[in-house]
Amino acid sequence: MKLFPLFADLTQRLVLVVGGGAVAARKVQALREAGASVRLGAPELHAELAALAREGAIAHVPGRFEESWLDDVWLVVAATDDREVNAQVAAAAGRRRLLVNVVDDPGLSSFQVPSIVDRSPLIVAISSSGVAPVLARRLRERIESMFDHAVGPLADLAGRYRARIRERRPELGGRRRFYDWLMDGPVAALLRQARPEDAARALEAALDRPQEPVRGSVVLVGAGPGDPGLLTLKALRALNEADVILYDRLVSADILSLARRDAEREDVGKRPGEDHAATQARIHALMVEHARRGRRVVRLKGGDAFIFGRGGEELQHLRAHGVPYEVVPGVTAALACAAHAGIPLTHRDHAQSLHLITAHCRDDDDAVDWGALAGSRQTLAFYMGVSQLDALARRLQEHGRAADTPFALVENGSRPEQRVLTGRLAELPALARAHDIRAPALLIVGRVAALANELNWFGRHIDGTAAAGAPA
Ligand code: SAH
Repeated sequence: MKLFPLFADLTQRLVLVVGGGAVAARKVQALREAGASVRLGAPELHAELAALAREGAIAHVPGRFEESWLDDVWLVVAATDDREVNAQVAAAAGRRRLLVNVVDDPGLSSFQVPSIVDRSPLIVAISSSGVAPVLARRLRERIESMFDHAVGPLADLAGRYRARIRERRPELGGRRRFYDWLMDGPVAALLRQARPEDAARALEAALDRPQEPVRGSVVLVGAGPGDPGLLTLKALRALNEADVILYDRLVSADILSLARRDAEREDVGKRPGEDHAATQARIHALMVEHARRGRRVVRLKGGDAFIFGRGGEELQHLRAHGVPYEVVPGVTAALACAAHAGIPLTHRDHAQSLHLITAHCRDDDDAVDWGALAGSRQTLAFYMGVSQLDALARRLQEHGRAADTPFALVENGSRPEQRVLTGRLAELPALARAHDIRAPALLIVGRVAALANELNWFGRHIDGTAAAGAPA
């Protein structure tokens, strides 16, 4: 079976739909969205269709199918659950040389309706010629995730300026470069940033210049805790479009392997002998340097870039150097570890607030307000705490948090090697030593942590309340 693909303009054209059930309702909705006038033939109507008929949005013809329903019609859809009626409709339409679709019956149909990805005015239509609808649906999902919703407005904008672009870029090569710049450069970025007026202005300004300026940009992307399934669609798109990826040590190889094959990958984690300030200065300089050469830079960080990730400092540096940027949030370790340990971070019975805290501060030079963390109905999530567990447990108890407060220590959260150790605050340091918990690990303190014993579902679970202090 070989089909000819076409996109039909049905605006104000009459289409007959036969059938009054849920399937017919879906077809009617799609046809109305395309601007078609709908005549609906059926003895009885689904509630939604009855409402449309009452409003006069569709014309209802009651009763069993009659050939006269086809008068003045451009296209026919048969959506009854009665194969005989559907066959009758198909035959009558065929006699009149009208194209007919019988829902889920390619044998009776003379046209088929594709799966679509709608970024109007851009539409991608997919068909398996009725042979493998599941495959077509899969493909649709893939394509759906590839294009952000800003491509619709971008196509609109390009359409509005088409004549002027042709006038200002009369030769083909220049015009092609202009369109590439339009798709990849600041205009598309501004549309993604929900700034349509600025996008139009940037396009206008570019038209008046003889050539598009080379201008790179940086996307600050949160890569999540390690499981590639926890990347956002936006993060995946950024990786697909990157020229250069500057990544941190915590970013997993699985995630890097999803990036565009020919993207340059650079590990910008701390080097032996280098201090944090030098590492950070080197990252700042690299981002600006690559962007100035017109590259699309992805700055890839573990978890979320704005949570203990120095993302703020990096953006301030970019802003100071006039490099445009975007930010894509990531699943931060606290959320990922809690989800994979079966710990609801808030719970109506146990915790009304959540604190994200870095444990990476010296014992004497203390920036954490321990008193504020001692209340029993709040959940505490400590990052970077493995080497500080003694001090953490001691400080919390000194400030009044009960010795029997539950904790959960999540090592390698969301990864195949994940281990979760639960216990009571007083035994935290001893238990962690006994089970040799290592970084990266996240510490959750509070009544909700005990729920891991009941709700755990992923990786290895060690209930330290059962045999306190006993080695594994
Ligand atoms: N920006 C990151 C945090 C960076 S700080 C985020 O939003 O998640 C690094 C700390 O995060 C680690 O010391 C550890 O406490 C925590 N962490 C990161 N990934 C983790 C993982 N997969 N499992 C457990 N803890 C993790």
